Amino acid sequence: MNDSFGRDITYLRLSITERCTLRCAYCRASEGVCPKQEELSAHELIRIVRVMAGMGVSKVRLTGGEPMLRKDLDEIVGGIAQLEGISELVMTTNAQHLAGRAHRLRELGLSRLNISLDSLNEERYHSLTGGGELKRVLSGIDEALGAGLTPLKLNVVLIRGVNDDEIDAFLSLAKDRPLDVRFIELMPIGNRFKANARIPTDEILAAHPNLKPLPPREKGQPAREYAAEGFLGRVGFISPLSHKFCADCNRVRVMSDGMLRPCLGSNAEVSLKEALGEKDDAALEAAIKGAIRCKPKEHDMCGPFVSQKNMSKIGG
Ligand code: SAM
Repeated sequence: MNDSFGRDITYLRLSITERCTLRCAYCRASEGVCPKQEELSAHELIRIVRVMAGMGVSKVRLTGGEPMLRKDLDEIVGGIAQLEGISELVMTTNAQHLAGRAHRLRELGLSRLNISLDSLNEERYHSLTGGGELKRVLSGIDEALGAGLTPLKLNVVLIRGVNDDEIDAFLSLAKDRPLDVRFIELMPIGNRFKANARIPTDEILAAHPNLKPLPPREKGQPAREYAAEGFLGRVGFISPLSHKFCADCNRVRVMSDGMLRPCLGSNAEVSLKEALGEKDDAALEAAIKGAIRCKPKEHDMCGPFVSQKNMSKIGG
């Protein structure tokens, strides 16, 4: 389905819980989260995807909060993967609880994973994430590669003065292992944001002339990708502030509280809750269409934008 600027909406980011295992310094505010019992059920989540698949959505990303906290994750993955029209089902996770589950998720129909990892230093990772264990992430990565949840992408949010001394260590990962490392610009969403903590992509590219641009793998992909000679993986940059990609945006977000957010960088949301109470799908379809029509031309994040929700609620 096209939005009012002619962009074809084919990608749904589905936040299946606000709850998270970690408290990343820049992400989760100290505010409370939507109680577990008010989260959309597996049945409701699958129904929303089924209706959106009928409207042209073909790719779904499960996110959160931490999606692996859902006890019914297998049901959600299996249910969505089987829907007609869904050709790609991916998940973003902090991988704290991935080891031991990657093969099962692959069997259920998960196509691949993005893993968030902001430091390769055990102590720093623990402190930045509010208690995360680096070795769990590393085991999760090994298992995900073994299970074929590939291409496996590592998401690194760079913060000046916090982890920018690790850029070369992350690049070494992409050199030595079949892992795509993607550096993400810090967005003005969530905790303790300071604009000068953001590291613009061009600064990293200028310091690494060995990185050569690659053509996009798919339409609407937010990452600009680069290759370097001898690297097994790719290097990507997601730069929503320094290189806006709104003109090619093909996605909307649905959150675990039943709100549809047409644009990450704009606070407007539409509730699907009432429509979900109807047996017939017509009201749900109408609510989704109405929300897609309201998708703004561009995000507001370059201005004095303050997100009313942090990323763990919206689903990064
Ligand atoms: N818990 C899962 C995880 O950690 O991958 C999924 C949810 S998390 C909110 C998704 C992604 O959002 C993570 O890669 C995180 O680093 C990113 N994120 C959170 N706040 C952000 C911010 N202010 N700017 C950029 N990325 C952010």
